[in-house]
Amino acid sequence: MRTRIEVPAESRFGPDNLPYGVFAPAGKDFRVGVRYGDQVIDLAATLDAPVFAAPELNAFLAKGPDRWREVRERVRELVDGEIDADAVYPLADVALRLPVRIGDYVDFYASIEHATNLGRMFRPDGDPLLPNWRYLPVGYHGRAGTVVVSGTDVVRPRGQRRTDSGTPDFGPALRLDIEAELGYVIGRGSELGVPVDIDEFADRVFGVALINDWSARDIQAWEYQPLGPFLGKSFATSMSPWITPLAALEAARIPLPDQSPAPLPYLRGAQHWGLDIDLTVVWNGQSVAYPPYARMYWSPAQMLAHLTANGASTRTGDLYASGTISGPASYERGSFIELSWGGSQPVRVNDQERTFLEDGDEVTITATAPGPRSARIGLGEVTGRIRPAR
Ligand code: MN
Repeated sequence: MRTRIEVPAESRFGPDNLPYGVFAPAGKDFRVGVRYGDQVIDLAATLDAPVFAAPELNAFLAKGPDRWREVRERVRELVDGEIDADAVYPLADVALRLPVRIGDYVDFYASIEHATNLGRMFRPDGDPLLPNWRYLPVGYHGRAGTVVVSGTDVVRPRGQRRTDSGTPDFGPALRLDIEAELGYVIGRGSELGVPVDIDEFADRVFGVALINDWSARDIQAWEYQPLGPFLGKSFATSMSPWITPLAALEAARIPLPDQSPAPLPYLRGAQHWGLDIDLTVVWNGQSVAYPPYARMYWSPAQMLAHLTANGASTRTGDLYASGTISGPASYERGSFIELSWGGSQPVRVNDQERTFLEDGDEVTITATAPGPRSARIGLGEVTGRIRPAR
């Protein structure tokens, strides 16, 4: 039996969006699907290609941009017409998992406002931006194995905590925080020893997903020098189950903010654009911040060119995240350490004064972007709840 899926015109997940995920209908195996409105279309059942019967997107992503385009066009035809009713499931009735097998995970620090705010708090006596910041997209290699799908509980980490006495103690993190970020998913990998040219970006990167890079600020503040973030970051990173293809974000492309000094030649190219994506951070049901991705200093193409500039290879499914997204206004800050200015200016959440996360707190990050014909499209949300330390 064939059916037509009705999606309201105001849906943020209409025919111009069509993000990919991996889902399981009740009692069945995980397979690849596309979200349309509040329904999921089973691609394995409709497109008759074995790559979609897999419990991850990797085999499809590895096919490259020509195949991505073909499949997107085919799905668009399906949702514009009639589709096999057995291949459509209500979103509320399916299980979702991490959409890609992530080999490597890199986290950048590409917001000048976030880097400046953190610099002011962590190094009050120096320049907020270190001398390298305007020359390269600062980043570090994170822990791919602890990237979890949205909805997974986050156990409060234990660790060495910096105290005011100057010596650390050990216990549950007291300054547990979020980082509202955008993640980029590698489609076609690159060879060891061969840097990815900045203009290859759209042939390599498949799409984006919202990320919450949970961070324990007291652990981080004690451990991060000289080698950078470690256990204050590696306990969990939450990722949306929905990857929005770059093809859905063409109307969201915008010029980057001015870069001064001019980047070195390998960081200059034709794909010199950012994305006009508006995020919302919701803390226990209340919207507390509106980070603007449009302000990001470094482009996603520059991040990829930089992370492979030394010849490091990339693999299908690798993830690199933008770093916390913050704008210049206080309500645009994408972390609680910034919103509460290091805990000194509590935020009002449901009539409580709050600084960092308490056990039982839930944080959800949503986002929208311009789509074609003045409609907006939504990114799949990322959410997580804090459980007590074990
Ligand atoms: Mn981060």
